[in-house]
Amino acid sequence: MDDPRRRVPRTDIAMADPALVAAAEQLGPALVKAAVVAAQAHARAGDILPEQVVAYAVASLPDSVTTLRRVLNATGVVLHTNLGRAPLSAAAVEALTVAAGYVDVEFDVADGSRARRGRGTLAALRAAVPDAEDVLTVNNGAAALVLATTTLAAGREVVVSRGEMVEIGDGFRLPDLILSTGARIREVGTTNRTHLRDYADAVGPDTGCVLKVHPSNFRVEGFTSEVGTAELAGLGAPLVVDIGSGLLAPHPLLPDEPDARTALRAGADLVTASGDKLLGGPQAGLLLGRGEVVERLRRHPLARALRVDKLTLAAFEATLRGPQTPTWRALTADPDGLRTRCEALASALVAAGAPAEVVASDGAVGGGGAPGLGLPGWAVALPESYAPRLRAGRPCVVGRVERGRCLLDLRCVPENDDERVLDAVRACTS
Ligand SMILES: *Cc1c(COP(=O)(O)O)cnc(C)c1O
Repeated sequence: MDDPRRRVPRTDIAMADPALVAAAEQLGPALVKAAVVAAQAHARAGDILPEQVVAYAVASLPDSVTTLRRVLNATGVVLHTNLGRAPLSAAAVEALTVAAGYVDVEFDVADGSRARRGRGTLAALRAAVPDAEDVLTVNNGAAALVLATTTLAAGREVVVSRGEMVEIGDGFRLPDLILSTGARIREVGTTNRTHLRDYADAVGPDTGCVLKVHPSNFRVEGFTSEVGTAELAGLGAPLVVDIGSGLLAPHPLLPDEPDARTALRAGADLVTASGDKLLGGPQAGLLLGRGEVVERLRRHPLARALRVDKLTLAAFEATLRGPQTPTWRALTADPDGLRTRCEALASALVAAGAPAEVVASDGAVGGGGAPGLGLPGWAVALPESYAPRLRAGRPCVVGRVERGRCLLDLRCVPENDDERVLDAVRACTS
């Protein structure tokens, strides 16, 4: 009898099929070969006919070379750490594309000589924070803190309040980070109250710097007291303020969020922050402050190890100079507009047989920022069983599961993607 397994095409023959040749050009031969080998195994097991190997392999190919999947963020959490924090503006994406090729990141095209790396980005940052005499960028907020404490306090003491020994997320603990630089931590005060005299008693010849950290992801309420930047600046030791979220100037929407301008005006020698939180840019760490302090940081060998790449420089400059970021659009989304979009989505879904209804729902800043602050808005509520199916769909839609329901909050969904959310839910309904 004819064994159908003998008809399974050889790998090289299958890969010569025009559809797979084209796929190999787009995705690379390794992914295509893996799809063919898997299809051959199915044919040998009798799951598919040998004649279906090529078609099966084509159908199982991934859409792209990377495993990262585009996600429609319907959680209502603007800076969702698990979804990559800030989404970039169109201007930043355009800048990334340009920077992907050869660019004059460290080159003066006028005279053909070497130029200061990322000078345009640094100029944009300086312009955005005129109170900073000098600025520097590194890979992220944690790297900014490492560079600051290493340069100012390795082998010496970092004076920090016990109320500010925070864990940022994913097991990242500030004290561990500081200790890793070879600095010692001099804890002062208590969890809920720290006074100026606590700091004053601790500051001495062994002090490398005083560090003030914004406890960005929790709130201590009740019998509390902390010491302001202006008072700490008078202690005579270099003062580093980690503001966390990267707000460059005060904003009425976020009254409790510290900002770089205020900290510098109050006398901070150095401010550190993240680029991909409220600033709405790519992952980056910002160091802003007194000229001589920033210059010391820039000269430290570690600065080279923490420097940002050309893609970050490009996207960051475009974020600083460009139009309003998607982050701020989402933070300031008009509740009535959100309600209108939710109502349109819900009525189209009800027409498609999905049990959808519009409910009031607060969004959140996220990314460890502004804990406790609700952003008033609306969501489309569906049964909880929709959540895993929406996550598995294409596009992947991530909602918020709350009290047995799957909430779809459109705050962080670009308006022209509403149709895609609708299609995704419809696909889960049929
Ligand atoms: C987020 C945060 C950090 C860490 O910044 P990354 O950019 O995530 O490395 C450090 N300090 C504070 C106060 C933060 O909020």
